[in-house]
Amino acid sequence: MAEPTARPHVVVVGAGFGGMAAVQALKGADVDITLIDRTNHHLFQPLLYQVATAALSPADIATATRALLRRHRNVTVLMSEVESVDPDRRAILRADGPALSYDYLILATGAAYSFFGHDEWAKNTQVLKSLSDALSIRERVLGAYEWAEECGDPAMTRRLLTFVVVGGGPTGVEMAGTIAELARSTLRGDFKNIDPRTTRVVLCEAANRLLLAFPERLSAYSVRALGSLGVEVRLGQAVKEIDGEGLVVGDTRIEAANILWCAGTAAQPAAAWIGAEAARNGAVKVMPDCSVPGRPEIFAIGDVASFVSASGAALPGLAPVAKQQGKYVGRVIKARTRGQRAPGPFRYRDLGTMAIIGRARAVADFGAFTLTGFPAWLAWSMVHLMLLVDFRSRLTVYVNWSWAWFTYGRGARLLTGRAGATRRQPRTK
Ligand SMILES: Cc1cc2nc3c(=O)[nH]c(=O)nc-3n(C[C@H](O)[C@H](O)[C@H](O)COP(=O)(O)OP(=O)(O)OC[C@H]3O[C@@H](n4cnc5c(N)ncnc54)[C@H](O)[C@@H]3O)c2cc1C
Repeated sequence: MAEPTARPHVVVVGAGFGGMAAVQALKGADVDITLIDRTNHHLFQPLLYQVATAALSPADIATATRALLRRHRNVTVLMSEVESVDPDRRAILRADGPALSYDYLILATGAAYSFFGHDEWAKNTQVLKSLSDALSIRERVLGAYEWAEECGDPAMTRRLLTFVVVGGGPTGVEMAGTIAELARSTLRGDFKNIDPRTTRVVLCEAANRLLLAFPERLSAYSVRALGSLGVEVRLGQAVKEIDGEGLVVGDTRIEAANILWCAGTAAQPAAAWIGAEAARNGAVKVMPDCSVPGRPEIFAIGDVASFVSASGAALPGLAPVAKQQGKYVGRVIKARTRGQRAPGPFRYRDLGTMAIIGRARAVADFGAFTLTGFPAWLAWSMVHLMLLVDFRSRLTVYVNWSWAWFTYGRGARLLTGRAGATRRQPRTK
């Protein structure tokens, strides 16, 4: 095991929104920081669906973590997979390297998708969480049209051109709207034997409205907006079965080659690592200062944490929650290492939530007021451009969006044959 350093050693697991904010808040502090992530990049997940639908390239929404932290002299970045934690020995156990000791530990490992007890559905669905997921969806979506062009069998063509999105939260709404636009506008006229405008896009939600976290008026608007893009919205219909050919939603069977799973999430196994109490979704229950009960040197932030706010509800899994908690925990550690009084309990500043529906519409809920349509889309675009971490990404995303806005074009329509994703469907004749 590595020897403890003279200065307090802070280990941060996860270079997502929470982990990066914590590291940034500790810039220049009298501590040594090790930031561990299984990938080498910081990913802007809210724009993943644009990589999955060929509007943006991976480099537009992800930046090498090392490059972002080049000027942070007290930070060492490790690309490594954490397997567990030994909280009694204050050690991080890794799959691919020696154990690391810590004085303070910040767990910011995010969340994964949950199949509500049906893990067997994973093999016949696509999820959208990482860059690799987005590229795999892009291959499958674009690949479906390539194979449909030559398959010659009407039933198979219909199956290839049927996309089912499961989960009516922001990601599901964004995916369904964008696939419909890709089919009806971008791909229109590109094929000889098929008409991409005949694509069927189905969005299924078990609850009786979309966007449950938004006011009802915005849910109703999103159903109308998706309908105008040709998306079939099925509300109050849970998925009962998924197999290699399609799925059963409510009492209806739908033959579909592509099923995109955008439903529930479950926190990464950090609670089990440290033997902490977990909420229903597996997230670590934390104290008002984001520390773990009985372990004041361990903090959990962002999607992996269950933080109950003053209203009694757990904070949602959103980027601003993770960022604000990361910044806050950085301040707590700084105060403790300096022997100063720690800041008061963490308070979340709700800056509003938004979801985009296709090229020029969105819904936005700012608490005091809501927006729909083009004004909401403008607000969404500006906020997301400003949140991208580096200037180069902002510039390229702005240029790509402008191009797509005026031309319906999508610059990243390349198939690169990623493993399994472009597997041809069996020919039927
Ligand atoms: C498709 C999609 C769209 C979204 N859209 C929005 C949106 O519009 N607005 C919004 O506010 N939020 C949105 N979110 C949610 C938002 O992205 C999350 O709330 C936010 O990323 C949480 O930050 P985090 O730091 O907790 O975790 P993450 O950002 O997920 O970071 C976790 C990091 O931990 C690393 N990691 C995990 N396990 C290990 C391990 N064992 N060892 C090493 N490293 C590990 C991962 O590689 C990752 O880099 C979206 C999420 C998704 C998936």
